[in-house]
Amino acid sequence: MKICARLGRLLLPTFLIALAGSQAVNAQEPNSGRNTVRDRYATSKPEAGGIHESIPPKYAKRYQEWKDEFLSTDIGKAQWEMYSHHPYLQLTITVGGKNAEGAGTGKYKWNEKGELIAATIMLGERINEGYPSAVYYPVMNALEPFETRNLISGNVLAATKIAHEFGHVMKISSTPHDLYHLQLQLVPQYNKIFLSNGYNVNDPRLVEMAQKMGGNPVEIWEDREYWGEANAMLFLRDRVAKEKFHCRLFGKIKRAVEEYAKDYEERFAEIAKSQGALYSCSWK
Ligand SMILES: [Zn+2]
Repeated sequence: MKICARLGRLLLPTFLIALAGSQAVNAQEPNSGRNTVRDRYATSKPEAGGIHESIPPKYAKRYQEWKDEFLSTDIGKAQWEMYSHHPYLQLTITVGGKNAEGAGTGKYKWNEKGELIAATIMLGERINEGYPSAVYYPVMNALEPFETRNLISGNVLAATKIAHEFGHVMKISSTPHDLYHLQLQLVPQYNKIFLSNGYNVNDPRLVEMAQKMGGNPVEIWEDREYWGEANAMLFLRDRVAKEKFHCRLFGKIKRAVEEYAKDYEERFAEIAKSQGALYSCSWK
């Protein structure tokens, strides 16, 4: 079990680069100085919260199906309602981008009070296809055999990916923006040292940086991804509660979490314990 977890760690350089890339995109936003229409809107009307769907017409039909699937659950409805009526957070949802089977959340903005006032979820054009690795995506990955056997549709996978992204928005809303900006600042510096010191995470400079920003870049990244997965699990808990296979699905998630995400097991176990149907499965 540990071997696989270590294998994940050995992929560290790849993830560092991935993290640095996504951070760089986000880092541009607050201080870019670009006076776009959206920037002006966010500045002049910080109180304009709600969900803003910006969907190219060619994706409108499939997006509606994914959204309907997300809204078919109580948790999906509750989270959608919360962001639709949010007093100051403007959540933009769009479809497109280079990552056709994936999705991402970014373009964060905060007001002077440190409150998150803008975020954008970018859904790939084919999020109803493609299963990410069980190492960092134990929930989405677990769906694969169930779709192969026609027990779930691609739209359930798409809605699970939407739930994962909502998990990112929720987590970032509760992350102090000072800490987030410190991470933006220190991660590239950390990576630079890491790549030049023979990948030595015990370098005192790196240990100090990791302490300041709440973990090394991989730990920060995986913590965020597992929050996304926890919300994906919350959605699936509702979605498959009445299906005969629900214990099999959650058994698969449990095994992946135990194998790859042991340090984060608590957040998944909490969700499993919070509903009778799952409690009767093996996850106790
Ligand atoms: Zn994610």
